[in-house]
Amino acid sequence: MAEDYSMPKGELMKGKKGVITGVANHQSIAWGIASQLAAQGAEMSFLHLPGMERRVQPLAESLGVKAVIAADVTDEASMDAAFEAVEAAHGTLDFFLHSIAFANKDELKGSFVDNTTREGFLRAMEISAFSFVDCARRAAKLMPNGGSIVTMTYLGAERAIPNYNTMGVAKAALEAAVRYAARDLGPRRIRVNAISAGAMKTLSLAGISGGRSMLAQGRALSAMGEDTSMEGVAGCALWLMSDLGLSTTGEVVHVDAGFHIMGLGSSESEG
Ligand code: NAD
Repeated sequence: MAEDYSMPKGELMKGKKGVITGVANHQSIAWGIASQLAAQGAEMSFLHLPGMERRVQPLAESLGVKAVIAADVTDEASMDAAFEAVEAAHGTLDFFLHSIAFANKDELKGSFVDNTTREGFLRAMEISAFSFVDCARRAAKLMPNGGSIVTMTYLGAERAIPNYNTMGVAKAALEAAVRYAARDLGPRRIRVNAISAGAMKTLSLAGISGGRSMLAQGRALSAMGEDTSMEGVAGCALWLMSDLGLSTTGEVVHVDAGFHIMGLGSSESEG
């Protein structure tokens, strides 16, 4: 059953067409963002990892998604076919969400130095960082009137977070790629931004050793003392993908209840 995130309805995305990647189930961040964009009148397609059809199809139908397309970002031929299908479905695009990451479970625990393998490092980089560059290039070709590209990142790109390891390095590359893509695509009025979300309970988080502790500590150490909400992340995506976000590009926007600004946790003298 699809989660109801009570997204506010409106027409901020009316007439806008785009692609959402990374829906795996109703907990996926991409699903929350897709729900918000649909509630604001967007037309969209889903690009999902092959094999996820059974979960993705009903979610897509509930939002009236135009095309549901399987594509593995590591497979050039499947990406070529997927973007042909996207062009056939929409003609041109106004927005594109990249919400894809992967690292082997063995690399997401313990010592970064000892546990990082060549194969695992390159795989994480390919799926979590290079795929963004590839998607941005392909999506930009379908954005003759400008547009907005958004990707998802985490504070582990900027700080050393226990167990996040290889994924943190891949996210750092992703955030740098956002700035380079924003510079390249700016003259074409295509904006490129990242949302740095706090820890959220999804399949990806379950793959990280101590994922539960990331959630609990994210809450305890945040300025607001609460979890990052799907509504907050989706609201930020709506801002960046709609015309509300005009003039914002190359940015990494933190949506984490203020986790990233904190030094020490609250002291006893503060109560
Ligand atoms: P998720 O598991 O629901 O989404 C990850 C998606 O990546 C899945 O849909 C999966 O199918 C897709 N994917 C993996 N390998 C792929 C491949 N080879 N080809 C195509 N698709 C592939 O988890 P999520 O938490 O919604 O993650 C979405 C994004 O948000 C990721 O970039 C993640 O790093 C980021 N993020 C997550 C959190 C969190 O705490 N959950 C916090 C900050 C950022």
